[in-house]
Amino acid sequence: MCFFHINKTILHEPEENGILNFETLDRFNSLDSTYSCSSRIYISLIARKQLFKEINWGANIATNSHEEGGLLIGKPYFDSYEKFYYSIVTSIIPAVVKEDSINEKKYGFDSWQAMLNKLDIYNKNKTIANKEYVVGWYHTHKGNRSVYMSEKDMDMQKMFPLQWQFGIVLNPQKQAWKAFNGKKAYECQGFVLK
Ligand SMILES: [Zn+2]
Repeated sequence: MCFFHINKTILHEPEENGILNFETLDRFNSLDSTYSCSSRIYISLIARKQLFKEINWGANIATNSHEEGGLLIGKPYFDSYEKFYYSIVTSIIPAVVKEDSINEKKYGFDSWQAMLNKLDIYNKNKTIANKEYVVGWYHTHKGNRSVYMSEKDMDMQKMFPLQWQFGIVLNPQKQAWKAFNGKKAYECQGFVLK
């Protein structure tokens, strides 16, 4: 697994932003669990709608059996008061997958390159302050599968080693998701914003 382009994001220092005053949609927040890390991920209303549409959140298995995935785009921050990192996801870039497969999708080099090119286009005319970054990746576990990091997922997660980069796993039929952070995929809190 190589780090190549994702490195670009490592050069970025998260903005400091002290007091969080976000209203969250509690019914959509990540599954309650024992969190082993302080980083947090917040999914904006627009990104949530885009993501739920892309993965057919709530649709039944017969029409929704292929695994999906892609990049989470947004902005990283550091809460200087409580000392933790967080990111706000502002949009997603879905991966293009050629083969139809119920198995977990393979993210090849081409797919990464295409997604990162899309981010470059998205950022093209933005000032540095307004640029968006790869704050993580998402993928689905459909049907009866639970939401967790498989061994293959752990390999992928190594490409997102920063404290403000996340991997999220969603099951759209069960309407459940979990968020993970860092190279070792520590489970962390995930929120959906109103
Ligand atoms: Zn997986």
